[in-house]
Amino acid sequence: MAAERWQNFSPGDLSVALPEVVAGDVPAAIVAATDAAAMWARTPLAERIERMRAAQQALAAAKDELARGIALETGKPLTEALGEVGAVIAKIDLTIGDAEEHLTERTILGGPHPAVVRQSARGPAVVIGPFNFPLHLGHGANVAHLLAGNPVIFKPSPLAATVAARYVDLFAPHFPPGVFQLVQGGGAEGEALCLDPRVRAICFTGSVPVGRALALKLAGDFAKDVALELGGSNALIVCADADLGAAAQAAADGACLTSGQRCNATTRVIVERSVAAAFEHKFLDALAGYEPGDPRLPATKLGPVISAAAVARYEKLLGELRGDWLLAGQVEPVVAGKRGHYVRPAVIRREGDGATDAECFVPLVSFFVADDLDHAARLQSATPFGLTASLFTRSEDTFRRLGAELEVGNLYANLPTTFSPSTLPFGGWRESGNGRPGGRGFIRFTTREQAVQWTGF
Ligand code: NAD
Repeated sequence: MAAERWQNFSPGDLSVALPEVVAGDVPAAIVAATDAAAMWARTPLAERIERMRAAQQALAAAKDELARGIALETGKPLTEALGEVGAVIAKIDLTIGDAEEHLTERTILGGPHPAVVRQSARGPAVVIGPFNFPLHLGHGANVAHLLAGNPVIFKPSPLAATVAARYVDLFAPHFPPGVFQLVQGGGAEGEALCLDPRVRAICFTGSVPVGRALALKLAGDFAKDVALELGGSNALIVCADADLGAAAQAAADGACLTSGQRCNATTRVIVERSVAAAFEHKFLDALAGYEPGDPRLPATKLGPVISAAAVARYEKLLGELRGDWLLAGQVEPVVAGKRGHYVRPAVIRREGDGATDAECFVPLVSFFVADDLDHAARLQSATPFGLTASLFTRSEDTFRRLGAELEVGNLYANLPTTFSPSTLPFGGWRESGNGRPGGRGFIRFTTREQAVQWTGF
């Protein structure tokens, strides 16, 4: 049977066709990873690190090329894409530090016998990536698993297949055969990889429905660790004492970075009533700075969304949501002479709590007015997600009190909901993840821990 093939078109310029992609050979990749597992687990950490450093240099040398590839294939503005590749390179240093700490055997004193706690490699790992950070998110898990001694099969988003392939071309040659492999494909290939019993760890970054379906299918496989990094519906709460200008700019940035296609995007703004009108003006002013443009140009802040399906979802939301549109939003089929998937930011003032919201993943913000901070906290928790939340207030006391009520994995004061540096863990609570935070420290979920004690020698 002929392999499945597809071709991506640049979402910022649909006249640009990317190279044809062929779906990968899942069984062959699993055999190669399984064959390499014992050898890679035995390879000393110092050698794994040395290889990783060489791979880092190869990525650093191709930084601009990779950033251009992200901008072209996903529509992410070039400046953001450069930031993503910078994070990819920096992630290696952070993860090496984490590996040296986590993988070191710990002596346990005070027990009945001499004892240590040690970490052992799990075996082949599958890393499934989303389109919106096509390199950075998969890469974080790739690096941690490789340093932990697990061969990795990386299945990127089919929507970012070309730039992902280039990343793997640069990275994989620094490891022995079978240790780091690419499998292109969509849901079928992803699922086949994840369900194979020889695969011992999964890091899935993607949407809640796909993550949940996968978790259900894997529920009986206790040998597998399954890390799920899923979606969000993140609120920025503006308290009456906030710096309204800073809050407005942060809300606009959080809504429009990557055209709203970030798991930590600001999709809800909750404002205390006494400052709602003043905040609204500043927020709309700040959004005016987000004009759709060609993502390949350094000045562009708002690129296209990823696909015609994303434009259709945006239009559906414009048609279905009920409330007062503060910013009407609009599809722009042509920008600067280029046909693409461009849309403008939209803001709707809504009554009620928006409890039925699904993740919107386009630059569209629901604006809620809260009677007081308790009401704000209720609005924040009205969706099932728990990824990030930010409070704008000048009172540390308010931040601590209100913040303690918010069930999110990432909590900020006076920062955009998208402010997620690699120096920290990053993971969702509630429906946003299953408690295996990515980002800093992900290496904890790449190993099996063994308690060892001895006597009678
Ligand atoms: P998606 O769920 O459509 O796809 C994600 C990946 O899963 C793709 O590689 C896809 O091919 C693969 N896949 C699809 N079906 C599968 C299956 N049955 N088994 C295994 N793999 C399968 O998500 P997307 O549209 O690419 O990315 C956007 C989503 O990712 C959003 O929901 C966003 O919030 C989420 N996300 C979360 C984080 C986080 O860290 N929490 C970060 C970025 C993106």
